[in-house]
Amino acid sequence: MSKESKFIEVLRRNRLRVTKERMEVFRTLSLVDSPLSRSELLSSLRNYGMHPPTLYRTIELFVSIGIIQSLSSKSGEVIYELLPPFAPHHHHYRCMSCGLTFPLEVLDDAPVEVALRSLDLPGAVVYHQVDIFGTCFECLHEQSLVGERVR
Ligand SMILES: [Zn+2]
Ligand SMILES: [Zn+2]
Repeated sequence: MSKESKFIEVLRRNRLRVTKERMEVFRTLSLVDSPLSRSELLSSLRNYGMHPPTLYRTIELFVSIGIIQSLSSKSGEVIYELLPPFAPHHHHYRCMSCGLTFPLEVLDDAPVEVALRSLDLPGAVVYHQVDIFGTCFECLHEQSLVGERVR
C-alpha cells in the first residue's frame, strides 16, 4: 500500500474528510527526508495557495491523530516529523540544553530492537519510540568554555 493510501485510510478511520489541503500537507512532509518547521511548510505550500490558519489547523489535526509529532530544532523552533508507518523507524537523541533532536538510525536486528520485540506486552504493537536525553557535544564544549572563563 502506498504512503498516500495509508494516509487516506488513517483519515477515514478517524472519520475525517480527505481534503486537498490535507493531502498537500502530507505530500510535502513525505517528500522531504527531514522534519519541517511551520515556516518551512508554509513556504513550500505557498505556491499551492495554502493559508497559514489552514496549515496550522492541519498540523494540529495531524498531531492529534498520530500522523506527525513535534520536536524542537536547534533554533528552538518546533519542527514536525512523520510517524510510522509514514517514516522509516529511528530513535532520537535529544539535547536538554539546546533542545536539538538528532535522529538515530537503528537496524532491525540491533540488540535494542530484538530486546523490545521479545517483551511480553499486554497488547499488539503498532510502533515504539526510543528517546535518549542528554547534553550534546556542542553544548558540552560551550559549557566547558564558559567554565574556563569563570575560573
Ligand atoms: Zn545541545
Ligand atoms: Zn526502535
